[in-house]
Amino acid sequence: MKYLSEYRDGELVHAALNRIREITTRPWTLMEICGGQTHSIIKNGLDQLLPPEIDLVHGPGCPVCVTPLELIDKALAIASHPEVIFTSYGDMLRVPGSQADLFSVRAAGGDIRVVYSPLDAVRLAQENPDREVVFFAIGFEATAPANVISVVQADKLNLDNYSILVSHVRVPPAIEAILNSPENRVQGFLAAGHVCAVMGYWEYLPIAEKFDIPITVTGFEPLDIVQGILATVESLEAGTHQVKNAYSRTVTEEGNQSAQAVINQVFENCDRKWRGIGTIPNSGWRLRPAYTKFDAEKRFQVESIQSEESPLCISGLVLQGLKKPDECEAFGTLCTPENPLGATMVSDEGACAAYFRYRK
Ligand code: SF4
Repeated sequence: MKYLSEYRDGELVHAALNRIREITTRPWTLMEICGGQTHSIIKNGLDQLLPPEIDLVHGPGCPVCVTPLELIDKALAIASHPEVIFTSYGDMLRVPGSQADLFSVRAAGGDIRVVYSPLDAVRLAQENPDREVVFFAIGFEATAPANVISVVQADKLNLDNYSILVSHVRVPPAIEAILNSPENRVQGFLAAGHVCAVMGYWEYLPIAEKFDIPITVTGFEPLDIVQGILATVESLEAGTHQVKNAYSRTVTEEGNQSAQAVINQVFENCDRKWRGIGTIPNSGWRLRPAYTKFDAEKRFQVESIQSEESPLCISGLVLQGLKKPDECEAFGTLCTPENPLGATMVSDEGACAAYFRYRK
């Protein structure tokens, strides 16, 4: 398949790995931002093929993992209303809240439906004018355009029975929070290619400058990832802090400006809580005042719900690159994909699930 098979070419991957070995003179710690990249690295054993000086730590770029527990509890509370059709992508249904998950609410009679696009949820609202239709709008910048377009569409159609439960997060403030931590050990970042396809990489230039750190926009196939690592190690060895683009078949510096415009029309920046990490200033999006009538938290009055994480789970440290999943005492014993204690185990993109699936 074009743009896929050639990026899985073992000879090209090994050539890039050899080049990394040739140029590496000292230890470097790199973080891949995205959970999809983490899975590709662990599944293909790329971390084990790197020279021992290169340590890959796994970042917070898994949307299910960083969605706060209380947002899951808010979703459960809303989905339990008899007049509600609660819609979501399938991966959110198994994520445990404090007491239950969306599957168990559905088993108890809740009308919970998996959709492939928020526009399917808008269509459901049109077809069911006597019901309230709610879409669970979580994710990073990559999923924001479709979610905001659903709000614009519902507004155009004058739908008063459609709303979204928003928990959107943004990558650049998370990178800054990691770099500002006194415990930080990350020296270079692989930025998430799909996020940059929407947002470009202009937001990363001042971060690289301010923290004197290289950032490389990186894709998801094995060759993409080793090329991203190679570009980052080249910068580190040269003592530079460039932002490079190793995913130029998809990403430009300015990104998709039409998508950015519609995001800015509907969303504004806000502080956002990240599961296991806590609140990161300015790291999220919420609906602008002109669109608050589509805010499910307000419509169903669930804003005050608060929830506590399991004290056993160290996913916050995993998501900041301070620990690896197999350093967690609960890994593979008290915490498994069938019985997850934290979202990094339940999500397909979570680092703990990747270690369990490919290393356990
Ligand atoms: S293994 Fe389970 S308990 Fe441990 S950090 Fe991962 S999700 Fe949390």
